Amino acid sequence: MSTAKKTVHATVLGYPRIGANRELKRAVEAHWSGRLDRAGLDAAAAEIRSQMLDDLAAADLHSVPTGTFSLYDHVLDTTVAVDAIADRHRRDDETATYFAAARGDDRAVPLEMTKWFDTNYHYLVPEIGPRTRFRARPEKALGEFDEARERGLEARPVLLGPVSFLLLAKPAADAPAGFAPLDRLGELVEVYVELVGALTEAGAERVQLDEPALCADRSREELDAAGSAYERLSEAAELLVTGGYGPFGEALPVLLEAGVQGLALDLVRGRADLEALESLDVSRETFILAGAVDGRNIWRTDLLSAAADLERLHRLTHRPGVSTSCSLLHVPVDLDAEHDLPKSLTERLAFARQKLREVVSLSRPDAPRLQRPTAPTEWRDRTVRSRLAALPDGTDRRVPYGRRAAAQPELPPLPTTTIGSFPQTTELRKARAARRRGLMIEADYNARMRSEIAEVIAEQEKLGLDVLVHGEPERNDMVQYFAEQLTGFAVTAAGWVQSYGSRCVRPPILYSDVARPEPMTVEWISYARSLTSKPVKGMLTGPVTILAWSFVRDDQPLADTADQVALALRDEVADLERAGTPIIQVDEPALRELLPLRAAGRERYREWATRAFRIATSGVRPETAIHTHLCYSEFGDVIDAIGDLDADVTSIEASRSKMEVLADLDRADYRRGIGPGVWDIHSPRVPSAEEMAASLRLAVRAVDPRRVWVNPDCGLKTRRYEEVRPSLANMVEAARTVRGELG
Ligand code: GLN
Ligand code: ZN
Repeated sequence: MSTAKKTVHATVLGYPRIGANRELKRAVEAHWSGRLDRAGLDAAAAEIRSQMLDDLAAADLHSVPTGTFSLYDHVLDTTVAVDAIADRHRRDDETATYFAAARGDDRAVPLEMTKWFDTNYHYLVPEIGPRTRFRARPEKALGEFDEARERGLEARPVLLGPVSFLLLAKPAADAPAGFAPLDRLGELVEVYVELVGALTEAGAERVQLDEPALCADRSREELDAAGSAYERLSEAAELLVTGGYGPFGEALPVLLEAGVQGLALDLVRGRADLEALESLDVSRETFILAGAVDGRNIWRTDLLSAAADLERLHRLTHRPGVSTSCSLLHVPVDLDAEHDLPKSLTERLAFARQKLREVVSLSRPDAPRLQRPTAPTEWRDRTVRSRLAALPDGTDRRVPYGRRAAAQPELPPLPTTTIGSFPQTTELRKARAARRRGLMIEADYNARMRSEIAEVIAEQEKLGLDVLVHGEPERNDMVQYFAEQLTGFAVTAAGWVQSYGSRCVRPPILYSDVARPEPMTVEWISYARSLTSKPVKGMLTGPVTILAWSFVRDDQPLADTADQVALALRDEVADLERAGTPIIQVDEPALRELLPLRAAGRERYREWATRAFRIATSGVRPETAIHTHLCYSEFGDVIDAIGDLDADVTSIEASRSKMEVLADLDRADYRRGIGPGVWDIHSPRVPSAEEMAASLRLAVRAVDPRRVWVNPDCGLKTRRYEEVRPSLANMVEAARTVRGELG
């Protein structure tokens, strides 16, 4: 076909915005601590945006996304762009308003934060009520658009679309029962008409509206609402609508019928859309981007099969293009910063900068099209595979919860504990860095960690906590720490991606079969236990979370990889138990994260995810308590999975949602121990004892008090001792108060 010989439009849907060296983190944190004023922060942000544009410009794309920079979160940016900031966060100065909404301040609690689809990114949940007044505030979008235009780039402004914005929002506190944010879509669309109008007037040829919420199952009403919204919006401007987190599915015909002029398909996770398009009546003038380059993972694209997809697209439209499957927000900036990865691995990787080149090369029909090489045979571990095959079917604890609970350590009612980590102080980070650079010998490093553990234990005894932790000072990160000790993983030097706000993570790369050569945590936990007569919990990260927060091989089903990780953890659990650890907590904060966005895949997910957890934990005796920690409060479709984990105690986030989750758990028949977080550790605010006691009273009313534990929402590693000490003291006091009231 002759059309196939033309160069097609090349672009990406978004670009990493934290800076190649986490400049964003440094700047905003300096601003928060008062070391960098507003002007300094603005200058640092401008520098990061300039760096982003440098990368995009160098790649020679046909158009570049703009407006995708953010000081904290792009959903919050959208809230600002439609002026839907909650009244409690409005301050005299805009930056103060922005960060009050993001992090809270001494006057107000922040917005709730929750997971962005099935990723490890977290967004701030807009609060929308019947009285929210929308107003177009295009300043940020216009400013960033101009920055790109000034460089002579074909700029394409990006906004989170109105349907997803409202579907991601929650009803404001003053909304009547039955109100849904989406009820406001009609009015919000008019504000978007103004926003896209301002951008078009400024010279934008096309505006990108991201509608990732359309990659999930949606009701007929929601789809109809989306259809009307896009009829109106596509009259106002030339649009590119993206999903990015799977197929559009039944939203695809809705968008096409509404008349949207451009669509970006996720051809990594949403290949079904390509087939669907072939049987739909698509105008050949529709601009269709083949999102062939994975925006979520770091493997090189199989250019041969991507080119074949592109060929298919050529038959559907006169205006095909190629792009990433979603924004590159989820991948690190540059593979060239990595010097210590094995060559066989490097050859198979592409980070953001490399992906730009893949997109451009796909857009040029004469560029070489290489097939991706298969994994080398050394990456297979026969022992692991045969041990897994030999594992007994019954991966459960045999003894039911009731009898286990009776055999486990006796504690006061409403036992107090923490989630595991204590503040990661500058000294700890320095010690770790010194050891990494070879400036601190192993013995000195170990001594430093031990003294930290001793302090953390002393601190907890002084505070009067019931179940102690060692504080996790030796852990750089809850996944990386294990990845460094398991085979099959590689750790990057600078592969940072944003998790929320200024928090960045460096996901390890799980590229081959996994095994545990030696115990990973036993020494530290046993040392902690030797310092106290109180029970100490051992801490591990669960298999699903290890997968969720790594870049995982894509050459075998996730379920198979999960089993391998679980088997390695099972070995660790056995060693911890043998050493006498009475309670072992296996954290699965990412259990919900990997839940398929569409119902069709969920049953299978629940099966393999909970099986992996049980492979890891079911080898213990009834006397050993298994705890787990989940990092969120909206359980939705994992609520049954929580039961299937068969943990003795589950701690969850609950403070921002005011304990509402307990009723949900109760409805789902969860009848084991539960630790609803009473202190929101994502905010620097110190909650009062009275406030936490109030939460606890709600808790003991919602569920049997004998099952309730008292703990913060999450680990304390990102907090400072100045916040941790008073907060935990208040928490212990709250527990005592409510204990007294139980009678
Ligand atoms: N045990 C971990 C900690 O306390 C759990 C962290 C998490 O849930 N993300 O830091
Ligand atoms: Zn957590």
